[in-house]
Amino acid sequence: MKIIRKVQEMIDFSETNHQQDKLIGFVPTMGFLHQGHLSLMKLIRDQVDVLIISIYVNPKQFGPQEDFKKYPRDEQRDINLVKPLVDVVFIPESDDIYPPRYDTFVQVEELSKPLCGKSRPGHFGGVTTVVARLFGIVKPDIAVFGQKDYQQSLIIKRMVEDLNLGVKIQVGPIIREPDGLALSSRNIYLDEQQRKRAQEINQGLALGEKLMKQGETDIDQIISAMTELISGHDLNIEYLEILDSSNLQEVSSMTEQVIIAAAVLVDNIRLIDNRLVDVDRKLEE
Ligand code: AMP
Repeated sequence: MKIIRKVQEMIDFSETNHQQDKLIGFVPTMGFLHQGHLSLMKLIRDQVDVLIISIYVNPKQFGPQEDFKKYPRDEQRDINLVKPLVDVVFIPESDDIYPPRYDTFVQVEELSKPLCGKSRPGHFGGVTTVVARLFGIVKPDIAVFGQKDYQQSLIIKRMVEDLNLGVKIQVGPIIREPDGLALSSRNIYLDEQQRKRAQEINQGLALGEKLMKQGETDIDQIISAMTELISGHDLNIEYLEILDSSNLQEVSSMTEQVIIAAAVLVDNIRLIDNRLVDVDRKLEE
């Protein structure tokens, strides 16, 4: 396994591999890796000749009051974790990703507006900007993103299609703790008592899914049942919405695939989670 820290070295490496007709797979991350990240790497390991991951905590996707400075980082641990799985770990420096003359911003408009776009203004513009730049450097044939950040995966797909970037995007399922809490680098912030309360986020989403599959079609009813469960455990809901999974618009009927998406504050720790539900498939079937 190779560690590359320089943008130009990464460009040269990918170019050489493309010249040899090698298929390049890519998993961008912000590090502090867990089994969710590793699942994305395993998902494409056998589909590609060269598997590259990046570790880069992108300042452009954090708001001024957010946790950029204290975002968990442990480079050596990350490297040891991925060693058996990947060919290259790309760990660029910020002044190489955004050199002094850097002046481009990439924005997917409509899909960036709802959900996290409302509560984290500027976040998705930061994400698409860095992912576009990383794609330009790594030039992957396939890149993998997690359903955990469902809105992000839709936005990246839209960007790739709109700009004809020629990267195939795959989306891997959400990996969870045994009690259902979605794995996240930010779970490290939770103390024991907060960690216990946090599992109710998944419980709430599961309740919503169950009600829908039992035939409940009143979205307000479903939302209020989920809200009661989640808020009842001293959690603060930032958003909890049921939207069309293809475009994040409000759903007009319950005969489509929907996404139940939540952002919840466990005290001051913000966690997101979601569930894709095929409403046509009822439990009793
Ligand atoms: P991050 O390091 O948080 O930027 O995440 C890097 C990639 O890992 C993103 O595509 C995330 O959606 C994905 N990811 C994060 N958590 C999980 C999880 N629990 N299961 C699957 N993928 C995940």
